[in-house]
Amino acid sequence: MTIASPLLLDVPEQSREIVEMTREFAQKEIAPHAAEWDSTKHYPAEVMKRLGELGFYGLRIPEEYEGLGLDTLTYMMVLEEIAAADASVSISLSVHNSLPVTMLLREGTAEQKERWLGPMARGEVLAAFSLSEADSGSDSVSIRAQAVRDGDEWVLSGEKTWVTNGDTADLLVIMLRTDTPEERRGAHGISAFLVPAAAPGVVPGKAEDKMGLRASRTTSLSLNDVRLGPEHLLGMEGEGFIYALQALDNGRMGVAAQATGIARAALEHCIRYSQERQQFERPLRDFQAIQFKLADMATRISAARALILEAARAKDRGESVTERAGMAKLFASETAMWVTTQAVQIFGGYGYMRDYPVERLFRDAKVTEIYEGTSEIQRIVIARGLYSD
Ligand SMILES: Cc1cc2nc3c(=O)[nH]c(=O)nc-3n(C[C@H](O)[C@H](O)[C@H](O)COP(=O)(O)OP(=O)(O)OC[C@H]3O[C@@H](n4cnc5c(N)ncnc54)[C@H](O)[C@@H]3O)c2cc1C
Repeated sequence: MTIASPLLLDVPEQSREIVEMTREFAQKEIAPHAAEWDSTKHYPAEVMKRLGELGFYGLRIPEEYEGLGLDTLTYMMVLEEIAAADASVSISLSVHNSLPVTMLLREGTAEQKERWLGPMARGEVLAAFSLSEADSGSDSVSIRAQAVRDGDEWVLSGEKTWVTNGDTADLLVIMLRTDTPEERRGAHGISAFLVPAAAPGVVPGKAEDKMGLRASRTTSLSLNDVRLGPEHLLGMEGEGFIYALQALDNGRMGVAAQATGIARAALEHCIRYSQERQQFERPLRDFQAIQFKLADMATRISAARALILEAARAKDRGESVTERAGMAKLFASETAMWVTTQAVQIFGGYGYMRDYPVERLFRDAKVTEIYEGTSEIQRIVIARGLYSD
């Protein structure tokens, strides 16, 4: 175990056991296949099903709904372990557990919780979160897809983009405008809907051909006059955007944990490689230039993890963590990009080849600086917090 291992941290015994079990499963059942899934763009449905059966779709769901009810701290460590094996699998789980589950737990009625949380916890329902549109990414309050009342029902129409789990989810939590063009209400003109993927009129587009995370599915979504009853509105009309932002605090910590897992995997490959690879009749590890890179990688990874765990502990104490989640995501994602760039350098020409793992990790790392709020947006969030009382 290296000094950069999360298992050296001071965490409760029960958390340690779950993290160790996750590591064992991830290293045995996921990591050996990650390169092949990446090169063939294979969505590992069979492994996702197994993860669902083991309770990974219910990591954050309370025990009363058959979930594991993990605290935020343990949840983050579990996500890091999955990401260290395969970042694609970790994002599918992170989106499901951090966004739709959080929104349902916070805003769902007793009936909605009853209907969805049990099946989620049992691994029967995977969920997606859909806010972005083609012309509305960072400026997500400007979305245009809408839901209009028709008697008791809602009629949903429009186009959403870049939905993780877009064509593999059973439940889609979709943010839609419910104000009118005559009376725009900005952040209070958007509502959240619980949309079964099987509802008539819900049509996922083709899976995007991505730089990284090639084993996760990212699709567009067409809503063609999808008719839903009132029980599909989540929380209050007009408050869905606020709910989405609240959930994104968890989502951003999840992406930070994902980034840390990617970076840790890169460091572990470099530690091994620098002992095997010989130049000038010595292993690379004998060169101080290489040692310094490894030392900096380990230090930044540990610092990223400390920021995540600090935000997670604050969340578990019930504090607001918007800025701390932003800091964790900003630092961890930029660390992942920096560490994987150094890893390619340490592997030299082999690092540039698809036969070696650091090339994939480098590609996987990039998106952590983009989704769930780009690094620029995180800096805006953090700076705004500096001026509030
Ligand atoms: C693989 C993948 C999966 C995704 N999954 C989901 C998902 O499941 N659900 C979902 O809803 N969305 C998802 N997204 C969308 C993602 O959240 C957006 O891509 C992200 O929020 C950025 O929006 P954008 O791509 O439109 O970039 P833009 O908003 O167009 O930004 C372009 C550039 O301008 C910068 N910029 C924008 N505004 C400002 C500003 N005010 N100040 C300074 N700089 C600024 C940005 O930081 C960025 O560098 C996913 C995206 C990807 C790539």
